[in-house]
Amino acid sequence: MSPGYVELFYLTATALFIFSLHWMNDPKTARRGVAAGAAAMVLGVAATWAQPFVVNHGWLVLAVVAGIAVGYPLSRVALTAAPQRTALSHAFGGLAAALVGIGKYYLWLSEGPEELTTFRMVAIIAEVILGCVTLTGSLFAAGKLQELKWVPQRAVTYPLQNVFNIALLLVAIGIGAWLVLNPTAPAAAFLFPAVIVIALMFGVLLIIPIGGADMPTVIAILNSYAGLAAVAMGFVLENNLLITAGALDGSSGLILSIIMCRAMNRSYLNVLFGAFGSVKQSAPEGAAPGVYKADTPESAAQIMEQANNVVIVPGYGMAVAQAQHRVRELYDHLKRRGVTVRFAIHPVAGRMPGHMNVLLAEADVPYTDLVEMEDVNRDMPQCDVALVIGANDVVNPAAALDESSPIYGMPIIEAQKARTVFAIKRSKNPGFAGIDNALYFDEKTWMLFGDAKHVVGELVKELSEKAGIH
Ligand code: NDP
Repeated sequence: MSPGYVELFYLTATALFIFSLHWMNDPKTARRGVAAGAAAMVLGVAATWAQPFVVNHGWLVLAVVAGIAVGYPLSRVALTAAPQRTALSHAFGGLAAALVGIGKYYLWLSEGPEELTTFRMVAIIAEVILGCVTLTGSLFAAGKLQELKWVPQRAVTYPLQNVFNIALLLVAIGIGAWLVLNPTAPAAAFLFPAVIVIALMFGVLLIIPIGGADMPTVIAILNSYAGLAAVAMGFVLENNLLITAGALDGSSGLILSIIMCRAMNRSYLNVLFGAFGSVKQSAPEGAAPGVYKADTPESAAQIMEQANNVVIVPGYGMAVAQAQHRVRELYDHLKRRGVTVRFAIHPVAGRMPGHMNVLLAEADVPYTDLVEMEDVNRDMPQCDVALVIGANDVVNPAAALDESSPIYGMPIIEAQKARTVFAIKRSKNPGFAGIDNALYFDEKTWMLFGDAKHVVGELVKELSEKAGIH
């Protein structure tokens, strides 16, 4: 294929990537966005493959087969595991960038050291550092999210943690700068591998101090690192599509992480270096467990049908139980009785941005009844019943009251301001951040213990029986 055609295909792929991001902004066009992104990827690979310098087709076939073998099972994981799946994708992106940088460096070193120009060396060092940090950081984040036994779930902090981490990063950058100026010096034989090892270590050390509530934002930051690594890779390989696609990926990850920081009331630095201004780890005041009061679906249904105003607060447990369709039935029953029902959507409820929106859209809950946190909080004091379904951290008042809490500062859905609270969960276990929730001990809160799908099903049954629907 002539270079003119290749550039045309690359330009088309870039446009498709841009449209893809735009369409993914809205649930109505999100599927089209995914299809456009996939088409852009296929176009980019095909146009690159068709270039005359690609002669070893066997390797490419092997790479495609390996990609499908890994990618297909990854695409089948449950929605609840989407964040760790996303982290694994970033890890693969980082690995690819790091391998290309390492491969190109040694290839040029042996076949034509004059090719290692200052510009290319800057790109190679950037690619290797960003790629390695993304690789180990994302793998560690995926392990944390998967709750692997050997990966600490809580934020691990120690004295001078940030000083040590920043010093380590500066050492890697310092060695990298020296290598840019002296790419073929004998000392490069051990200094280049040293940069790789330090960057791999830095990736893990970056994630260790990140607490539960900040994990979603960190995944978005790792996304932007993977994108920047792809930009550097594009400069090394002199490939325009990689540069533009990487820049789109890097900037969208960065924008998403900034939006999430704002939503979580966190400073960017605080998330980036979890140990900055980290919370005191003393035992929270008044943390002694209170008394839970359990209620039955029967009486809960009775109170809800008499309410004027019900706010449903869905969380991760609704996703685990796959209760969204039952929740939709509950919504229909209450609406039929003239109750105003709305869903309070917290930006980090569940395990991925937009998790609750996706689940509720799957059950065809009208979008107009999904309300953002700030708006619903304004109306909470007028709300008769807040029905919390498998949510915990996002309704934990400790976020506002307890300075020693790991989620301190995160805005929450203020369910505690409703007149009555019903909370559905299976046990007295805490949520993702691993802390008790005073809302559940509150005198106006009634627990409906059980699996969310089952309990909501019971509520629906009660309401249907009352309405004479069988
Ligand atoms: P939480 O993880 O805080 O709480 C979920 C609750 O659901 C648990 O207390 C659990 O209690 C209950 N639960 C689990 N399974 C079921 C079930 N089958 N039926 C009924 N209840 C169930 O979830 P939230 O949505 O409140 O908060 C999200 C947390 O995840 C935040 O800390 C956020 O920072 C973090 N996070 C968010 C990401 C995102 O992008 N949205 C990504 C990564 C982390 P029990 O076991 O007793 O049933």
